[in-house]
Amino acid sequence: MSMFHDSRRLPLTANLHFLRSCNLRCKHCYATFLDDPTARPIQGHAELLRISQLLGARYEKVTFVGGEPTLYPGMPDMLAAAKAEGALTNLVTNGSRIDPTWIGTHADVLDLLTVSIDSAADATHRAMGRATPGGQTIPAHHQIALADAARAAGVRYKLNTVVTTLNQGEDMSTLVLRLGPERWKLLQAAPVEGQNEAHIALLTPTREAFDAYVNRHRAALATLGATGIRVVPEPIEAIRGSYVMVDPQGRFFDSTTGRHRYSRPILEVGHDAAFAEVDFDHDKFDARGGRADYAPDQTASAA
Ligand code: SF4
Repeated sequence: MSMFHDSRRLPLTANLHFLRSCNLRCKHCYATFLDDPTARPIQGHAELLRISQLLGARYEKVTFVGGEPTLYPGMPDMLAAAKAEGALTNLVTNGSRIDPTWIGTHADVLDLLTVSIDSAADATHRAMGRATPGGQTIPAHHQIALADAARAAGVRYKLNTVVTTLNQGEDMSTLVLRLGPERWKLLQAAPVEGQNEAHIALLTPTREAFDAYVNRHRAALATLGATGIRVVPEPIEAIRGSYVMVDPQGRFFDSTTGRHRYSRPILEVGHDAAFAEVDFDHDKFDARGGRADYAPDQTASAA
């Protein structure tokens, strides 16, 4: 439960899942928010700016997540609103709807760009559902152009990869080296009740397979001479309860019990009352290196 009842800035990241829609169909996606299909999303641009401001004033970093956040044309205004309050801004995207020009245009309000890529192989992405309903995937050369554009614009670049039974045997170290993220987060695909039951049982890798994927890539990156890529594995136990998350209705939610539990809307009851209604584990946040974004000098080598 929350211990915060004052208005000081929290040395934490708030993940704002403000949009349910996505143009891709990843089978492992835990952010479908289909458990409450009648829920009303946050209404209107003004409310989205207010919640961005509120989180920007209270958290060290605000991460904009979906769904796919770039589907909302007003999203850059939300980045600006959080940044104007003094927070770092982070965009988590599948990369399909932005290009190097977009990154250059919005670099002044974007501190970190986090792109989700699960494989170097288009066929694997298609099998995982990281593709449009028509089967179109995002080519590696597009992702490399985004990474290079981010670096050129002074935007820190990070990479997320979800490990499932479909990609657990692969080696994507050459692509990762080329992308050159400052941090590569490896997430063990996790079942979240009400979000991804349709496929997740077949997709969840064993802990052994997940650890083998992590170790294999650490060794490969070391062999390739990659330094400065901080590899952060997140097995299922580390994920649950370690993120401060806000849903498309502006409510905090947690998944400590393996399903989402929601607070009342933040814009209605205020930050502290809503935060007190979810379970957040500070020790887990520290254990998974959640504070490292505020101390970039701690970047470790991939080995
Ligand atoms: S791109 Fe992200 S939000 Fe969209 S389906 Fe895949 S995991 Fe879910």
